Amino acid sequence: MLKKIYIAKYHGFCMGVKRAIQIVEDTTKRAEDPVTILNEIVHNEVVVEKFRKVGVEQATSIDDIYAGTLIIPAHGVAPDIKEQARKKGLRVVDATCPLVSRIYTIIEKIVNKGYHVIHIGDPNHDETRGIVGHASKHITVVANKEELQELPEWKDRKLGLTVQTTAHIGELEDIEKIAKQKWPGIEIYNTICNATSERQLAVLELAPKVDLMLVVGSSTSANSKRLARIAASSCGKGFLINSAHDIKTEWFGEDTKAEYVGLSAGASTPDFLVESVIKRLLEISGGKAEVIRPSEELASNKMSE
Ligand code: SF4
Repeated sequence: MLKKIYIAKYHGFCMGVKRAIQIVEDTTKRAEDPVTILNEIVHNEVVVEKFRKVGVEQATSIDDIYAGTLIIPAHGVAPDIKEQARKKGLRVVDATCPLVSRIYTIIEKIVNKGYHVIHIGDPNHDETRGIVGHASKHITVVANKEELQELPEWKDRKLGLTVQTTAHIGELEDIEKIAKQKWPGIEIYNTICNATSERQLAVLELAPKVDLMLVVGSSTSANSKRLARIAASSCGKGFLINSAHDIKTEWFGEDTKAEYVGLSAGASTPDFLVESVIKRLLEISGGKAEVIRPSEELASNKMSE
């Protein structure tokens, strides 16, 4: 029987997501012409759908936008996209998260000094595409530490290394070790954002102390998927759920012994989705479970009734 629901100390909307949503709301209030977001403003279907319902258009390519205002999403874009938009006469409103822009600044600065950049990130993610566009071809993208290990020796190159804002904090140490061993002079920049670090650390603190971890987030969200993987490996049992509808009652059956549940949410997950998950968990417990927020209230080493 489900007894306690522990909410992770840091979860849900981050600064960059709140800021991007506010920018879309302000822009649509003021705009007299069509407003189009390039790709998803943030990687959450509920947020994307909310804007679609109030008439904000969404396009996957600049070629499909002919007039009005273009909003650049929180994950940013390559500079040539903004240039193309301006040439087409579009008004450009930039909702790129400042912590993504920080990576652009680092990369542009070191590329101008003659460095080649190694960036560790998902090559198919919007953030990575934007970053590649800021490096004027002086960049190599690898998806993980295994691919990093396979890169050439590049004895004649000055090298800098950056990572995706939502990378796994636990892997950064390995990445640094491999990079320093291969290229002792490499300059390493920790570009994982604060929101990612805080949410991952909160899950690492909570997950070992509960029977089941649930992470609320979209399957299109890199930070939610990573959080769910960390939660599952650290707890032993964990799932990424889009909403309360994905909760399976068999997770709480007599034989599963899921008495203590930990709950977190990705940086693009609205609070109301987390609250609806809590409501559903309370229903499953027959209204008996206690909700504990935040997780600082955890007993230091063991959860007791
Ligand atoms: S997860 Fe980090 S980089 Fe992405 S929008 Fe939030 S604060 Fe910005």
